[in-house]
Amino acid sequence: METTEKKYIGILTSGGDASGMNAAIRAVTRSAIYNGFGVKGIYRGYEGLIAGEVRELTTQDVSGIICRGGTILKTARSEAFTTPEGRKKAYETLVREHISALIVIGGDGSLAGARALAEEYDVVCIGLPGTIDNDLYGTDSTIGYDTALNTIVQCVDKIRDTATSHDRIFFVEVMGRDAGFLAQNSAIASGAEAAIIPEDRTDADQLEQFISRGFRKTKNSSIVIVSESPKDGGAMHYAERVRKEYPGYEVRVSILGHLQRGGAPSAYDRILASRLGVGAIEALMEGQRNVMVGIHNDEVVYVPFVQAIKDDKPLDKSLIRVLNELSI
Ligand code: ATP
Repeated sequence: METTEKKYIGILTSGGDASGMNAAIRAVTRSAIYNGFGVKGIYRGYEGLIAGEVRELTTQDVSGIICRGGTILKTARSEAFTTPEGRKKAYETLVREHISALIVIGGDGSLAGARALAEEYDVVCIGLPGTIDNDLYGTDSTIGYDTALNTIVQCVDKIRDTATSHDRIFFVEVMGRDAGFLAQNSAIASGAEAAIIPEDRTDADQLEQFISRGFRKTKNSSIVIVSESPKDGGAMHYAERVRKEYPGYEVRVSILGHLQRGGAPSAYDRILASRLGVGAIEALMEGQRNVMVGIHNDEVVYVPFVQAIKDDKPLDKSLIRVLNELSI
């Protein structure tokens, strides 16, 4: 790139939307402009990058969005980008648009995509963890997780009213097919009786454990939070098992689904997104590349893509003990 040419930073959101993505877009845009860069918004994630759906963003374009869920840049999943041909087209867009660095906000798949692009072409990529699942290694929280957690807790509080009034067992299914952060922590926060999470799925029959702890001996209703699981059927599967194996109990299922994703971001997510957005521009100015900007012990950290994607983020097993002890 010639020195006289304006340097552009590209920004896109990819994978599932998460509350706080807009706050991150705002932070990246404003921080980039503050530091003398131009910013180009890429619409519909990698699909839009391949198709060339790009528009320059001004500070005004990101006004009034810090409080909005979803993503003004829209998001998508892109089959084409998983192929070398697709990534070649994506790279051509970057060259044509004079974008010398790309900031990707998304989950582990999106960061894997950024890593693949950076390996094949000389593109500086920086990732921001944007997913409600909180499953990215190297960051204590991801943008959108806190908001989703609060939404789930509000829903479970409402379900509790019905569960206690009717003397029922409720299986409430939440998102997080590979990570139980949402299920485990929402169970603790809502005073649920148990959580069935993927981290424990292979070790033990979690339903049996819950039953052997004596559910309903001291309580007249129970709420069990279940991480979704396309493999074994999630909450439906466990409700069906109770009906068959422990007849006599009245069982209901509530699948929270997409309402977990949307809504105004929590203050925590807005602050996190703002800090990480500013951190992304700082990372670029420091010459970092192929890193995710995360938060650890309340400090902004850089985590190499390879680590953020490959390593499973461990769930603190003491959370399981906390829930078990408090649900007697
Ligand atoms: P969420 O956590 O919300 O599911 P995510 O970023 O993990 O978000 P994915 O659908 O896994 O969501 O990934 C988003 C997009 O990233 C995919 O549609 C694909 O275009 C790209 N992608 C994922 N994995 C790879 C990969 N290994 N190589 C290239 N591109 C990838």
